[in-house]
Amino acid sequence: MDVILSRITATVIFSRENMDMAKHVYSFGGKSADGNGKMKELLGGKGANLAEMCLIGIPVPAGFTITTEVCADYYTSGKKIPEAAIPEIDEAVKKVEANFGKKFGDNSDPLLVSVRSGAALSMPGMMNTILNLGLTDASVEGLAKKTGNPRFAYDSFRRLIDMFGSTAMGCEHEEFEHEIHKLKDEKKAKLDTDLSADDLKELVKRYKAVYKKHVKEDFPQDPKKQLYLAINAVFNSWNGNKAIEYRRIERITGLKGTAVNVQAMVFGNMGDNSGTGVAFTRDPNTGENIFYGDYLINAQGEDVVAGIRTPEPIAQLNSEMPKVYAQLMEIRQTLEKHYKDMQDIEFTVQDGVLYMLQTRGGKRTGTAAVRIAVEMVKEKLIDETTAVKRVNPDSLNHLLLPQLDPKATAKPVAQGIAASPGAATGKVVLTAEAAVAHAEKFPNDSIMLVRKETSPEDVAGMHLAKGILTSTGGKASHAAVVARGWGKPCVVGCEAVKIDEKAQTVTIAGNVVKAGDFITINGTTGDVMIGKVPTVAPTMTGDFATLMTWADKSRKLKIRTNADSPADALKAREFGAEGIGLCRTEHMFFGDDRIAAVREMILAESAEGRKKALAKIEPFQKADFVGIFEAMDGYPVTIRLLDPPLHEFLPQKDNLAGAQAVAKQIGVPVEKIFERVEELHEMNPMMGFRGCRLPLVFPEIGDMQVRAIIEAAIEVQKQGKKVVPEIMIPLVGTVDELTILKKRAIAVIDECFAKAGTKVEYQIGTMIELPRACIVADKIAEEAEFFSFGTNDLTQMTFGFSRDDIKGFMPTYLRDKILPIDPFQTIDFNGVGELMKIGVEKGRASRMAKHNQHLKVGICGEHGGDPDSVVFCHKIGMDYVSCSPFRVPIARLAAAQAALGDAARDK
Ligand code: PEP
Ligand code: MG
Repeated sequence: MDVILSRITATVIFSRENMDMAKHVYSFGGKSADGNGKMKELLGGKGANLAEMCLIGIPVPAGFTITTEVCADYYTSGKKIPEAAIPEIDEAVKKVEANFGKKFGDNSDPLLVSVRSGAALSMPGMMNTILNLGLTDASVEGLAKKTGNPRFAYDSFRRLIDMFGSTAMGCEHEEFEHEIHKLKDEKKAKLDTDLSADDLKELVKRYKAVYKKHVKEDFPQDPKKQLYLAINAVFNSWNGNKAIEYRRIERITGLKGTAVNVQAMVFGNMGDNSGTGVAFTRDPNTGENIFYGDYLINAQGEDVVAGIRTPEPIAQLNSEMPKVYAQLMEIRQTLEKHYKDMQDIEFTVQDGVLYMLQTRGGKRTGTAAVRIAVEMVKEKLIDETTAVKRVNPDSLNHLLLPQLDPKATAKPVAQGIAASPGAATGKVVLTAEAAVAHAEKFPNDSIMLVRKETSPEDVAGMHLAKGILTSTGGKASHAAVVARGWGKPCVVGCEAVKIDEKAQTVTIAGNVVKAGDFITINGTTGDVMIGKVPTVAPTMTGDFATLMTWADKSRKLKIRTNADSPADALKAREFGAEGIGLCRTEHMFFGDDRIAAVREMILAESAEGRKKALAKIEPFQKADFVGIFEAMDGYPVTIRLLDPPLHEFLPQKDNLAGAQAVAKQIGVPVEKIFERVEELHEMNPMMGFRGCRLPLVFPEIGDMQVRAIIEAAIEVQKQGKKVVPEIMIPLVGTVDELTILKKRAIAVIDECFAKAGTKVEYQIGTMIELPRACIVADKIAEEAEFFSFGTNDLTQMTFGFSRDDIKGFMPTYLRDKILPIDPFQTIDFNGVGELMKIGVEKGRASRMAKHNQHLKVGICGEHGGDPDSVVFCHKIGMDYVSCSPFRVPIARLAAAQAALGDAARDK
């Protein structure tokens, strides 16, 4: 039996256990459809929307959708299409034939079909598509005769052999490309379109030879065989590397598989009265309510998306095909009214007749998401709650992206198409693989990926890059769509960019830039600059501010910020922070004006010596706190006492120059420095002499900090401002640690009050960052007035993962799904999260029982700015989350969505 036939029989000789009465295939066409837009889980987004478009009277070529359940069955039964689906597929083909008035496999006027994937969530470009399916040696002649266009017929056939060969049968697409380039050279043709019908006929012959070399069989001449092999290929692509990588990055889990959409082909490459395009019903970059997109005359859909030819802006279609343009504008309105959201559409014009091939919720930048949501409320398409639910909190990053400093004088050397906003500076890399390799070697470097165009293979490198620049492609090219989805600044179609991979250089409008040199792009304007250009922080105004006020109406969680300076505190307040949840005092110790005194304190041999040095630091600490209290103007401020191990403030053992400088600075011999460094050396400093252990051993350190906090509070209160200091003791694991330190702090505070002749309101609480603290939270809450979960340490201590040493194994853990996500990014709900729940429940119950008081509970680990973690914090009843200033708006929105329930986060 030949190889192909045996594969087909393996496919269609059926898995009997999957025979059931469920419907496997849903037809659509004309104004009717078996499915509808709500059936995304079963029909995939594309299939459901094709059905829905038919139902609302939009012209769609007839076709059918094989369900995602069939894909799941395909995998459970060892990659076989379930037996029961086969007659349904055959029946559905007949319906398409009837609808289109052509027969599949007919030699004189063949029905051709496309076969495309389509999962419940959109995964752009991640899975295989095969076009022109049904063409054979005989029917290509028929098509040539029928259309009177042999060039078109052979062009369609060679595309089929390429797509079918490379996606269904494992041939290399590059080998087909190689053949077309060779032929073009032979024929002295510049463009593909310069090849004649006879040239393309010759190309078909060569493509078939490539096919046979790989598959060891002739290209199949039975359209049904082609169809079933193509269906298999789409199902197989669900578990292809590209798709798996995309799902991993986008954290897509829990889907059954992909549906397969088989649809009658319509042709945009039948001459100058045909064309194809992709468009968005509003600008996906800015959100402006304009029709936005690209088209190409005499081309097939893939040509626009792949970015191979630079397409024309959609508005120009109005002059080339006014009737089609008017119809498109009407469809744009119909779709937006129907879906009540911005749509991403694909269309083809065949001989002047318009067909819609796809509609789906359009991917958009955060800037666009906010503007569209707010404007759609004003247009009465949606209500405020829907608007709040619709914007993905992480996408607000777009609005919080650095912009080019308006004062910067660097002149753009070139301009491309502004594809995704924000400014980025980075070192040039020329391939996605180089980006991955560079990031592994230099994880802190900013990378700028510069390519002719990008393809789904490049996603890993694209994800690591700070910005993306391509020399071809339009607003809907792969690079543009993916960059927008991820909030990365991106400029595409910059024709002045010439890449020489061999020489590892890029020439940008005559300027030669070597790989590794810096360039800067402005994705908001399309400008490209040579070198590093300074950027500035954004502000919160307009639609962004409006959406935030709507979000605030719903949320229950308060949002605080982690800030150690008045400048950060003010920025956070601008973004809506309602207090400081963590002020890390150690950052204040590093200032040039105080590090010498800190080192003197560490090197001192007695409490007296330490006190002397601390007295020098105290005025600086007090001034820091005054600044922060003033900036927070009445909002609560949680100040954490010194936390890190002391050796962090000294030069390391091998740093002679550093040690000499310190020795000189504080007037001790250099040996003394090394001696102390040696004494302070720890095998596991994160589990060593740090946190509350420091003031327990050296109480004078804690005394100084408490005094500075309270005296600062008194001073600011005297100015007539409200001050609410919350003194936070870190890394507590037993209640006695807290009891001792609290008693000592109260004594210092009482002294301050007596000296000043006045008092301030204050609280003393603790961080919960050790598993033991969660377990004995009831005891700790008898002493603590508040808990703040330090989930960085809590994650570290619960997993036993040193938070600074995960890079050796975390990538493997994530790749092999040993962990679903990095627990330092999103709370590990089942482990760390369970401990947090215990901590909250025991702490609250005990505080209420013992003191009849509500225990205030918050979080100040990095997770406080992660939307999924914020939802978790809401669910376990926390009072607030605290995050870095730039994540405050993200946390506000995530907290609102948590309170509102399921959010449409998949946009
Ligand atoms: C924490 O551990 O979560 C925390 C906020 O403290 P730090 O990161 O400073 O250890
Ligand atoms: Mg900590």
